[in-house]
Amino acid sequence: MTRLLEVKNLKVSYNTYAGKVQSVRGVSFHLNAGETLAIVGESGCGKTVTSKAILGLIQTPPGEISKDSEILLEGKDLLKLPEKEMRNVRGSDISMIFQDPMTSLNPTMTIGKQIAETIVNHRGLDKALAYQEAIKMLKLVNIPNAEARAKQYPHEFSGGMRQRAMIAIALACNPKILLADEPTTALDVTIQAQIMDLIKDLQDKFQTAVVLVTHDLGVVADVADRIQVMYSGLIVERGTVDEIFYNAQHPYTWALLQSVPRLDTKNKAKLYSLNGTPPDLLKPPVGCPFAARCEYAMNICKEAMPEATKMSDSHEVSCWLKHPNAPKVKNPIGGSD
Ligand code: SF4
Repeated sequence: MTRLLEVKNLKVSYNTYAGKVQSVRGVSFHLNAGETLAIVGESGCGKTVTSKAILGLIQTPPGEISKDSEILLEGKDLLKLPEKEMRNVRGSDISMIFQDPMTSLNPTMTIGKQIAETIVNHRGLDKALAYQEAIKMLKLVNIPNAEARAKQYPHEFSGGMRQRAMIAIALACNPKILLADEPTTALDVTIQAQIMDLIKDLQDKFQTAVVLVTHDLGVVADVADRIQVMYSGLIVERGTVDEIFYNAQHPYTWALLQSVPRLDTKNKAKLYSLNGTPPDLLKPPVGCPFAARCEYAMNICKEAMPEATKMSDSHEVSCWLKHPNAPKVKNPIGGSD
């Protein structure tokens, strides 16, 4: 499989009056051509900062990216590109869809013209041809009456249709990577499912690799090939969808899984909610960042950060419960220690 994107030791911090907030603390991962990688974690875990860093959207200052970090797109380090070249990468190589399309769409321009403008800028087509392409894109994302809808403004679209229009803009230049940051959070559940199905269909059609950033593990089950779980600026577990859904090893992943609504359990059960809050990233703990909320925490958890332990070629977990050098403990979910 071709490695399209490689993120190596990404560290992003923000200088604030209170001190340096270490938002992403040494994250490494890759994305293969044509696959979908989900980055999952609760608010403040560093997932959005990671995706912004990939797009070159970290404002410096107050943001700061460590000098030894690398983000390689087909071997080219995006962190070393001047802003002018990075502007070409955004749109042509990597496109993004955001949580709230209303803040990304221009309210004073018709949808058709907005899509056409992207095509003119990135594909160099003349305006008339780009407009025809824009209508084709609207049809592709299942907007009914595309010709008429292209003449409308964003406020005339429903939330779901606006997100479809954003997807049309993002895919109009046939990017290698689509970065989708909480693309369905602002939508109701039925529309969420339709948008995720649409992203999956278009990915098959265009062979675009997708990075899907979300707090909701339930959203990624049918779409992602691999999942990485982030907590407190670190990746705490990564694996294939099956490894994460059927053989998760990190207590934080268990908590995320328990908070996904299920149809096969007795309906009266309340959804699980994790108590406590993530650590203060002004002064991250020296040990496992999840220790204060983890019911399996041992003394060693507060003293040292567990390194990643390989469970398979594709599955890794950073937890002392699975570390070969950890004190012997009984595996709380059964199976072998
Ligand atoms: Fe819990 Fe310790 Fe594992 Fe952290 S390392 S998740 S505190 S058991």
